[in-house]
Amino acid sequence: MITAAAQSQTEYLRALPGDDVRQILWRFADRYDLHMLVQSVRAVARGPVARLVAAGARNTHEWTAEKASLLEAFDESGITGVFMEPAEGGFIEGPKNLALALVAFELAWVDAGAATGSLAGCLALSPIHERGTPEQKELYMSRCAPGPGKSPWRGAFCLTEPIPYVGVETGMLGGKVRIAEWPEGGEPILHVEKRGRFITNSGFANFVTAAVDSDDARIKGSCMVILEEGDSGIFDRGTPARKLVHQLSSTRDPIFNLKVPASRIVGGYTVKDGIIVPRYSHGEIIEAVFRRTRVTVAIMTSAKLLSAIEPVIRYHRSRFRGSSAAHPGSPRYELGLQLKEDAVQRLVDVWAAGEASASLGFAAARLFDELDPLEKKKDEVLAERGISGSAVLKTRRQIGRDAVAFLQGQRPELADDILTQYAILDSVANVLCPACKLWNTGHGAQMMREAVSLMGGYGITEDCPGFLGHKWMDAQLEATYEGPEAVQRRQLSVTMVDELFLAQFRGWVREMREIANDRPGTGACALATAMQMWVWTLRHLLKTTDADGEKLYQGARQGVTFPLADALCWLLASRSQILDLVELEAKGPENPALAEALPGLVQFFTDLCHVQAARAAGEVGRICAELVFGFNRHPAWDTEGCATCYQAEDLEAMESLIPGIASLARGYTDVIEVDGSHPVKAGPCVRLTGLDEFARLRGRLDGCLTGSQLAHDRAAEALTRVMIPEALDYPA
Ligand SMILES: Cc1cc2nc3c(=O)[nH]c(=O)nc-3n(C[C@H](O)[C@H](O)[C@H](O)COP(=O)(O)OP(=O)(O)OC[C@H]3O[C@@H](n4cnc5c(N)ncnc54)[C@H](O)[C@@H]3O)c2cc1C
Repeated sequence: MITAAAQSQTEYLRALPGDDVRQILWRFADRYDLHMLVQSVRAVARGPVARLVAAGARNTHEWTAEKASLLEAFDESGITGVFMEPAEGGFIEGPKNLALALVAFELAWVDAGAATGSLAGCLALSPIHERGTPEQKELYMSRCAPGPGKSPWRGAFCLTEPIPYVGVETGMLGGKVRIAEWPEGGEPILHVEKRGRFITNSGFANFVTAAVDSDDARIKGSCMVILEEGDSGIFDRGTPARKLVHQLSSTRDPIFNLKVPASRIVGGYTVKDGIIVPRYSHGEIIEAVFRRTRVTVAIMTSAKLLSAIEPVIRYHRSRFRGSSAAHPGSPRYELGLQLKEDAVQRLVDVWAAGEASASLGFAAARLFDELDPLEKKKDEVLAERGISGSAVLKTRRQIGRDAVAFLQGQRPELADDILTQYAILDSVANVLCPACKLWNTGHGAQMMREAVSLMGGYGITEDCPGFLGHKWMDAQLEATYEGPEAVQRRQLSVTMVDELFLAQFRGWVREMREIANDRPGTGACALATAMQMWVWTLRHLLKTTDADGEKLYQGARQGVTFPLADALCWLLASRSQILDLVELEAKGPENPALAEALPGLVQFFTDLCHVQAARAAGEVGRICAELVFGFNRHPAWDTEGCATCYQAEDLEAMESLIPGIASLARGYTDVIEVDGSHPVKAGPCVRLTGLDEFARLRGRLDGCLTGSQLAHDRAAEALTRVMIPEALDYPA
C-alpha cells in the first residue's frame, strides 16, 4: 500500500519498456546490425513460430513438415547465418555471442524449442568453430551458410549417450574410435561407433560432431569427430525422444557405425611413433564450446520471464469485465485482480527476477565478445614465446598472480599486457557463464511457476496467452541440457575461489557502495553488505572444519560448495541489474524518444533493482548463516555444553556484590539451577566465539533491507498504472 502523498510525488512507468530501453540496458544501442537482427528474428518468432504453437504443433514430439518449415524461415530471416563470418556466408563481423544471445531471447520470447532448434545447429558447428582446422572451418561453415537457391547443411552435436555412459559425467564415454585401415603412406580410415541419447536436430542433421574415446592402441585419448550422412556404414537417426518440452525441435537417440577419414578429427592430429595423437581431447573441445553456448541457453529463460509480464497484466485487469458487478470506469472493471496487493506484488517479483537474469545473461554474452579476440591474441603471444603443453598451465598460474598484483596497483606496467588483460576477463567469464546458466534457468523455472500461478487455471491450459504453461515446463529443460545445475555448481565451486576473481569481486563491493552513495534507492548498499558476507563465509569455510574435524570447503562436499555457488549467483544477477540501471540513467537522456518517459522508467527500474537486491541479500544471509553455523554441533545440557552457563549458586553469591545480577543473568544467558534444572530448550545457546564478525555483518544486512518493501509497494503501484497494448502481438 502506498500513501496518496507519496503517489503524488512519484514518477510512474508509462508503458512497457520497448526496444529503445532494451538497447541501452543491454548495450547495443549503437549496433544497427543487431537492431535489424532483432526485428527480423522477432518477425519469425511472433509469426511462423507463434502460429505453429497456437495450432498445436507442440502436441507431438514427431518432427513434422510444419516444424521443418521453420528451418527455412530461420534461413531466410538471417537466423541461420548469424553464426558465420561474412566470408563464410554470414553477415555479422567479429564476435557473435551478443548477437546469438539476442536471437535466443527473441525466439524464446515465444517458444524456446524453436530457439533450441536454431541454436543446436550452432552447437554442432561450435567444436569446428572453436577448435577445428582452417580446412574444417572453411568447409563446414560455408556448407551450413544459407544462400539463394542453396539448401544449407544442418548439424547435430552428439555428446550424451544411453545410460550408463555420458550424462552429467562427460568423461564416461561409451562411443569408440578405432583404425579401420591405414594405407601405406596414406590417410588412416577410422571406424566410429557412437550411440546418442536426446540429440537435438537428429531428425534432419546432415552431419554430427560426436565425442568418442579411443578403443585402439594406435589412437591416443579421446576426440571429437565429424560424421556425415553419406559416410559408409550406419547413420541411423534413431527413435524420437518422447519429451514433454521444446517440441519445436527434433530430439532423437541416433546410432552411428561409420567409416570416416582421420581428417574428420576436430582440430586435426599428428602421428607420433605410429600413434594418432588428436590435437584436442573431447573434454578440451567441449569446455571451449559450452562456456559460450550455455550463455544463450540462460538467456532463453530470461526471455520467458519478461514475456510473461504483459499477458499477466492484461489477464488481471480484464478478469471481471463483463460481470454485472463491474461497471466500466469502476476500479473493479479497470483494474480487476490488480486491486489485490498480492497479485501485483508477485508480478513485480517475476519482473525483477526476469530483469536480473537478462542483465546477467547479456553481461556474460558481452564479456565473451570482449574475450574472443583477446583469446586469439593471447594464443599468438604464447606461441611467439614458444609456450605450449604443460608449460601453459604453469605460465597461467604466474600470469594470474601478476594480474592480482596489477589489480592491487602494484604492477601498473601490465595495463597493456595481453596475457594479464586476458586472465582478468577470463577469470570473470569462468564464473559468469556457469552462474547465468545455473541461476537464470534454475531460479527462472521457479519464477515461471509463479507467473503461471498468477493466471489461475488459464495458466495451465494451451489457451494461455503467452504460452506460459509451455514456457514453465520448457524452463526445466534449459536448466538440464548442456549440463544440468550440478555441473554448473561444480564448475563454480572451482572458479569462484580463484584469487583473481576474488580480487575483482572485492572491487565490485566498493563499486556497489559508490553507486549506493549516489542512488540509495537501488538496494546497492544491501547488495554490497551481502557480497561482503559471501566473501567472509567463503574464507571461513575454506579454513574451517566441521564438528567432526572434516574439512568443509572441498570438491566432494557439495553440501558446502553448491549452496555457496547458488548464493554467488544471486549477487551477480543483482549486481548486473544495478549496473544496467546506471547505464539507462546515463544514456537514456541521449535518446529523445525516451525523454518524457525516462524519469518514470528510471524510478521503476530502480525499485525493481531494490526489490531484487533485497531478495538476493536475504537469500545470501540465509545460505551463509546455514553454512557458518550448520556444521557445528549444538551444545547439549552436559558438562561440556554447560561449561559456559552460569550456576545459580554463583549468581546468588554475587548478588550481595551486584544486586539484581541473578535476575538479569537469567534474561541474557543460560543458568543452571541448584537442582540441576535448566531452561526448556535444545541446549545452552550457541556462543559466537570467532563468529562475531559474521554476526555483525548479519545484523547489518538485516538493517540494510530498510526501504526495500517501500520499493516493492511503489513498483506494484506502477504495475496498476502502466499502459499495455490492446492485445498481444502474437496469437494465443
Ligand atoms: C530435449 C533434450 C535435448 C538434448 N539435446 C542434446 C544434444 O543436442 N546433444 C547432447 O549431447 N545432449 C543433449 N541432451 C542431453 C542433456 O544434455 C543431458 O540430459 C544432460 O546433460 C543431463 O544428463 P543425464 O540426463 O544423463 O543426467 P544424469 O547424468 O543422469 O544426472 C541426473 C541428475 O543427477 C544428479 N547428478 C548427476 N551427476 C552428479 C554429480 N557429479 N554431482 C551432483 N549431482 C549429480 C543431478 O541432479 C543431475 O541432474 C538433451 C536432452 C534433452 C532432454
